[in-house]
Amino acid sequence: MRDSRTHQPLTYDVRLPDEAQADALRLLDASRAVVNASLAILWPHLDEFATDRSGPAWKQVGRYIASPSPHGDRQWRCESEVVGRILCAQAERKRAFILVLPVLSDGFIRSKTENRPAGKNRPAIKEAIATLQKSLEEDETTFVALQNVMEQACNFSLQHDRFPTNYEELQPLPLLKVGMLTYAGDDGGEKGQAYRLALDLEKGVARFRFRYPDSAGVWHWRKVDTLIALPDAVRERLTHGELMAPTLREEQRADGSRIAVLDFIIEVEKADLPAWENVERVLGADWGVHTLLTATAVDGRSEQVGRPFFLNTGGFDGRQARTRRQIDELKKKVATYEKQRDALPSDHPKQAWYKQRLALYRREIEQCWRKYERRNRALAHLASNVLLLLCQVHGCSLLSMESLKTLKSTGRGKGVRGRWRNYRNNSTIRGEIWRLLRYKCHLIGLRFHTEQPGGTSHTCPHCGQPAKTYRSPSECNEAVKWGRWMYCDVCHYHGDRDYCASVNIARLGVAYLTQMKTTSKARSCSMTDPRVKPVSYTGAGSALLLPPTGSHARPSVSGKVCFYPGWLGSAFLQSSQKKSVFLRLCG
Ligand SMILES: [Zn+2]
Repeated sequence: MRDSRTHQPLTYDVRLPDEAQADALRLLDASRAVVNASLAILWPHLDEFATDRSGPAWKQVGRYIASPSPHGDRQWRCESEVVGRILCAQAERKRAFILVLPVLSDGFIRSKTENRPAGKNRPAIKEAIATLQKSLEEDETTFVALQNVMEQACNFSLQHDRFPTNYEELQPLPLLKVGMLTYAGDDGGEKGQAYRLALDLEKGVARFRFRYPDSAGVWHWRKVDTLIALPDAVRERLTHGELMAPTLREEQRADGSRIAVLDFIIEVEKADLPAWENVERVLGADWGVHTLLTATAVDGRSEQVGRPFFLNTGGFDGRQARTRRQIDELKKKVATYEKQRDALPSDHPKQAWYKQRLALYRREIEQCWRKYERRNRALAHLASNVLLLLCQVHGCSLLSMESLKTLKSTGRGKGVRGRWRNYRNNSTIRGEIWRLLRYKCHLIGLRFHTEQPGGTSHTCPHCGQPAKTYRSPSECNEAVKWGRWMYCDVCHYHGDRDYCASVNIARLGVAYLTQMKTTSKARSCSMTDPRVKPVSYTGAGSALLLPPTGSHARPSVSGKVCFYPGWLGSAFLQSSQKKSVFLRLCG
């Protein structure tokens, strides 16, 4: 693989056609057995994988062991590549654990009270990691890596009433639960000895052939090529990017059935990131309490550029919740029928009827899941594209956001009606958007910066003092943690909570930008840091021009809702612009 600073791998999973499924799943089962047996043998030698990182992972593994169950040299190379990658990643985590070990303390565990069970003291954990990270050299170990092992150590402590003394005690042998086989150990293309893959871009197909064990355990090449129709996105990427060795993977569906998918991995060139001195504006984007996302642009002199942008998902959450309910009901039916079927003798004439019925329901469940996931993906793409578009419209070369790991702890507040009912799905979507943004930023040459959140929705963006939130502008007597209106006692500034948070995230981004420009070294600032400057609002330069994406150039208006054509899903766009202006801006 080429340099990760200049290139980036993109992965597209494609379900193998039905005729190849059984053989591919058998291959994955055989590979998984070898991978897991090798992991068990090498686990006591984990440290060796921390020091030696030259060359491909399969070579490292090959230095210690041969295949526990040989069925072809290249097959073993591919399996040992999986083993090596897992062990290297685990060795990396072990290194993070060793850093964390001396600071593990009982203060991280919140003891049990009458109302809540024992749990983790997240503020203490966060603070300890921040302190620990400051004592390390830059970039040595990321916050996320440290936090990850710290959380796991706390989970261990909650179970065993003490912290683990070494990594192996903390981390059980990391066996593969589902089959996975990277073909990176093989030469591939025409010359592969475990798989062959040829592309026919004109016809839009890939010809895939692989070695597999038959039902008697004898290994063969498949007699014919499996034709895989390439999705449009893959075809388009392949015109610029380079196809890497694919990975064969098993996916378990909601109904317990298994399918084999092939991950096409395409390495594309990253766009050059703008030099720090050329970055002038920052777009701060916040996961809203009432909107999915709120974004505001701020320039290097801490002046807000243009109006804030709210991305509201409208009826999306309700639709997803309905699909989930539908799935639950179907599952209930399946369980009932299974029970009735099992009560009958196996040669009962009604067995066939049950079999047919159950298959029908299972298929329906799967269709629901697919619909559900497709909607999530479409929304995530829409949201990330809108943010990138806003960056371009406002001339922002830096996108500032809260980091991903906080998603779990966001929005647990009681009393926020509706918005969080579909809470679990929300964090899935946010994760998806975050990941999409991170890679899309690289592709189009935008700087992506994440901040540890803390007080972003309870700080006045105008004067920088802590501020409280209330239910609404007219109900400012009683402060409510999840209230949608922020009011500052010091300077009497008030505004929408999500908007204020997005400005604050932009302020953190500006502070970061200023540090990068002046010292080219930056540490994340907290909201109270004097380097984080207050923002003033000018309201100038708020042109927003969304290009039409479909064949119908104009959006259609029904009541107060403007449907924007061409998207797979719909989103509710809200702006302080007048409706007539806003519609014109939407194309
Ligand atoms: Zn204020």
